[in-house]
Amino acid sequence: MMSSLRGTTPRIKIVAPDDGGRRAATYSVCGALLMAALAFYAWNYWRDGGTPSFVARPLEEVTLTWQCPNGHRFRAEAAAGPLPCPTCRAQAFVLQVYKCAEHGPVAVLGVFGRDSAGRLEIQRIKIADQPWQPAGRRYPCPVCQEPMIWLRDPAPADE
Ligand SMILES: [Zn+2]
Ligand SMILES: [Zn+2]
Repeated sequence: MMSSLRGTTPRIKIVAPDDGGRRAATYSVCGALLMAALAFYAWNYWRDGGTPSFVARPLEEVTLTWQCPNGHRFRAEAAAGPLPCPTCRAQAFVLQVYKCAEHGPVAVLGVFGRDSAGRLEIQRIKIADQPWQPAGRRYPCPVCQEPMIWLRDPAPADE
């Protein structure tokens, strides 16, 4: 199980609290993501458990960034379960970037499912190199366990 998930780790490195390395990693991540088109509305669906106050559109119509275990990224509307990567057909997951105030950007993969009313909701998440876990309201930093804030929807390109 673990080996099959290893490849899904997004290419964002968490480094030990060594100032130089951390700064370099943070800058490279930010640089790579600068061109990203943001999708705040989409992510608020995920982050707030599907009950945003300012979004009228159903989640199915929100376009998100997806990433497969081989690092291919593409844009697709939110959907239940993994989607097949259009490049290699491997299972792809929704990718978003959170940020720890101390340790910088952290990649988070997610899988949507449907609630009892048939609405899409985020059901499982994978924070950096950690195992998949049930989605909750907290997104703890993998290094210090402090709550992270949502940072951005990453660009599909730059690979
Ligand atoms: Zn792929
Ligand atoms: Zn941290």
